[in-house]
Amino acid sequence: MLFTYKMKTYSLETLKNQIISNNGKVVIFGFGTLGKLSKKVFDKLEIKVDFFCDSDDRKNNQEHENIKVISIADLNKLDKNTNIFIAHDYFLAVMPNLDENNFKNIYTTTELLTYPNLLDMYEGDLYPLKLKRRIDFYNEISKKSEYASSGVLKIKSVDIQITEKCSLKCKDCSNLMQYYQKPKDSELNQLFKSLDNLMNVVDHVNEFRVLGGDPFMNKEMHKVVNKLSKYKNNSRIVIYTNATILPKGEQLECLRNEKVGLEITNYGEASRQHDALVTLCDKENIEYSTYKCDIWQDCGRIIPHSQKSEKEIMKQFNNCCNSDLITLLHGNLYRCPFSANGNNLRAFNENESDVIDLTKNYETKDELKKMIKELCYDKKFLNACFSCNGRDFTTMNIKSAIQTLDKKPIEYKKLES
Ligand code: SF4
Ligand code: SF4
Repeated sequence: MLFTYKMKTYSLETLKNQIISNNGKVVIFGFGTLGKLSKKVFDKLEIKVDFFCDSDDRKNNQEHENIKVISIADLNKLDKNTNIFIAHDYFLAVMPNLDENNFKNIYTTTELLTYPNLLDMYEGDLYPLKLKRRIDFYNEISKKSEYASSGVLKIKSVDIQITEKCSLKCKDCSNLMQYYQKPKDSELNQLFKSLDNLMNVVDHVNEFRVLGGDPFMNKEMHKVVNKLSKYKNNSRIVIYTNATILPKGEQLECLRNEKVGLEITNYGEASRQHDALVTLCDKENIEYSTYKCDIWQDCGRIIPHSQKSEKEIMKQFNNCCNSDLITLLHGNLYRCPFSANGNNLRAFNENESDVIDLTKNYETKDELKKMIKELCYDKKFLNACFSCNGRDFTTMNIKSAIQTLDKKPIEYKKLES
């Protein structure tokens, strides 16, 4: 049974009256980029916001433009007609509480985020490409319940992992590259067959994320990008790089495609080509975003099978910011990169229903579509979650991109074959 939830609908033109006809009170649930951007739209619509709310207790009692951030406990004490706008991606984590507390007026911020010239109202330091992608990501997640209960199969993003190789060997890489003894590239025929099978049954994939390791380590990256760009049922292709390799020839040429953008992570000294890459993108008119990454979360480790209960693992999964990163690796489709690489490394065996072999010939299109739909919309947790530290706001921050000793792979316990 696919999980669904019901949100109130609205239009920007009538929202003010709708709110007044409830109890006139507004809470933005999510004190991040989208919450603050939504507040700007409320200002334009001349609608007063009473509170922000955030699940992260560290944000409680902070203020933004004289509006206080309240805790979930405080939110639960408010009048049940309060208008609550969810401005973050964790619908599955917050909806049960709002439901249990009988809140009647719950909305997405999707309509608010269509406000004309929204990007011009943004005051933070995200590059336009990153901000557009942030909004698209939210919009797709906010429609997940609608997609789940309809006949369509739309996927927010698919990570296309084209190599296990990386020019860095970060000891806490969340994609688990540090464990590969003999990293290899994805085999093109297998990759193309699995992509065709996927795109044949999917109605739409908003974004392909081409990554590794570092995708430029795969000399055939351009062939993958060119193949991806031909699918009509896809909107955008984003290539992730650590800025150690400057693309040339066909690798550079494929970045000029209007569907393609480059997501650059700047690890300081380790990203030795960062400035040259940014200059190249500016010169060649390649769309990109870059951000300086000094810390990240401690989630790049295979841990011994956790003793957590299923309920605790379910909470870890629902709060995890990576739990919706559908990943294609060596012909198999997974729910997240940790699941994909941990299974590939044979650090654990994924549950049968957590892996879909896209190289197989399925009897009917519907059979494969149903399996993919269940993987995307109907998981409570993965077997991989028991070997993973989880990734939410409670996960500890650690210094990013620390390299393994002598750049050697990290040992781990492999399953017997
Ligand atoms: S740069 Fe570091 S974090 Fe990024 S893929 Fe390579 S090893 Fe992983
Ligand atoms: S294994 Fe589970 S907890 Fe870990 S990243 Fe994937 S979904 Fe999140």
